[in-house]
Amino acid sequence: MKLNLNIQPLNTWIKTGKEPLVISGPCSAETEEQLVATAHLLAQTGKISALRAGIWKPRTRPGEFEGIGSIGLEWLKRAKEETGLPTAVEVATAKHVEEALKAGVDILWVGARSTANPFTVQEIADALKGVDVPVMVKNPVNPDLSLWVGALERINNAGITKLAAIHRGFSSYEKSAFRNEPMWDVAIALKTLAPELPLINDPSHISGNRDLIGYVSQKALDLDMQGLMIESHIDPSVAWTDAKQQVTPAALADIIDHLTLRKAEV
Ligand code: PEP
Ligand code: MN
Repeated sequence: MKLNLNIQPLNTWIKTGKEPLVISGPCSAETEEQLVATAHLLAQTGKISALRAGIWKPRTRPGEFEGIGSIGLEWLKRAKEETGLPTAVEVATAKHVEEALKAGVDILWVGARSTANPFTVQEIADALKGVDVPVMVKNPVNPDLSLWVGALERINNAGITKLAAIHRGFSSYEKSAFRNEPMWDVAIALKTLAPELPLINDPSHISGNRDLIGYVSQKALDLDMQGLMIESHIDPSVAWTDAKQQVTPAALADIIDHLTLRKAEV
């Protein structure tokens, strides 16, 4: 079986080059200063192609920080104006899509919890009809290839051709070194079904721990994934969400410097 997706190449919507493609920024936009300062440090590394930040955060349990909300769109706008970096946010409702587009966000992504719900994905897809914006679709929280494929198809059927998949691993009840099991086979299966679909790896949510990010990133590149989305924060130890897995912009640059783009031929 092959998927029948209508896809434009990655370099039609994001800067790609010799280095691995990296999208980076905080798990959550927390304050204007935190976001803008992180963006400046990231831009100064010269190694990233887009700035990510969550402003509507889908928390598994209630009572935690659920994102700064729409005001974060203004901060993203400022970060983009000052650094020139295109911006990316997670959208989980039609209203998020409308607000993000109105604020000039360059790239949207669908989070793992949303991908698992076809009603949510369809609502997002309907809000995207007639719009030309790049959309990245994370794998669902559970290792169900069809759900991932179905979400990609719904977004593509809405007319979005600047499309990519993000592999962020899968939840498991079992304890493991990873926060989310990579189950590389699932990502490879998607690649086999849709070789033209750009596949980006999210080592941060797979690892759950900054020490594993270099290893997971290299594995993703060895499997010919086209890019990495890595969470970074000006001061990860005090991050409001995902503190253990975020890295400083300097640590990010160091991780990237140690990656080999293609596995050496043997
Ligand atoms: C995120 O990117 O911060 C996030 C919430 O990720 P996921 O949807 O992969 O859990
Ligand atoms: Mn996160």
